Amino acid sequence: MKKGQKETKVETEMQTWPRWLLVLTGLCLIHGPNRKSSNTWEALKPRHVPQDWYDIVWFKGSLPKHAFTMWIANYDKLPTKARLASWGVPVSPLCSFCSKEEESRDHLLLSCDYSQQVWSEVFARCQPPASTFTKWAELLSWIRHPRSKRAALLRKLAAQTVVFHLWKQRNNLNHNQISLLPIDVFKNVDRELKNIISSMRETKSFKNLMVKWIR
Ligand SMILES: [Zn+2]
Repeated sequence: MKKGQKETKVETEMQTWPRWLLVLTGLCLIHGPNRKSSNTWEALKPRHVPQDWYDIVWFKGSLPKHAFTMWIANYDKLPTKARLASWGVPVSPLCSFCSKEEESRDHLLLSCDYSQQVWSEVFARCQPPASTFTKWAELLSWIRHPRSKRAALLRKLAAQTVVFHLWKQRNNLNHNQISLLPIDVFKNVDRELKNIISSMRETKSFKNLMVKWIR
């Protein structure tokens, strides 16, 4: 199998995030095709995670598939088209959603018009930031500065769920030609977030979180 084909195959597997343990082998992509996956794991495992966002990724109630995607996104190591193109993979570097800008992490997940429509639905329930996100640090800052601990938990959950579903939709679009409106991506976010909150309703920190989300 040629190098480009191999990398595209690994990327295709990454859309099946519930099988994320299998995907770890393919994550040699995130440091370049010549790096051993064992070295990648060494570089990424939690002891190397900077403390300033550790608790945004790993917390009680977060789904492993969400935390894992958020973890990779925090390192800015998702195999976006801009990243793949920089490695010489024969793909257009343009955004899968809008085809107007390079598909970087910050564009794809934050500043793209498509993604901002998903975020705007979240902001209607979690209070918006002072201005729309353009950089990853602004997302982290928004998560970190809520009015209460409960609001912080809701923002962490919502951010992970949105990041996961935007990345999933990007992969579905590229590999399965499944096109969804932003509102439909949000409906998936909404459904999954409600399931998480419902499953954790006996936990003190999740008490009244559903009311906060659906108000
Ligand atoms: Zn875009």
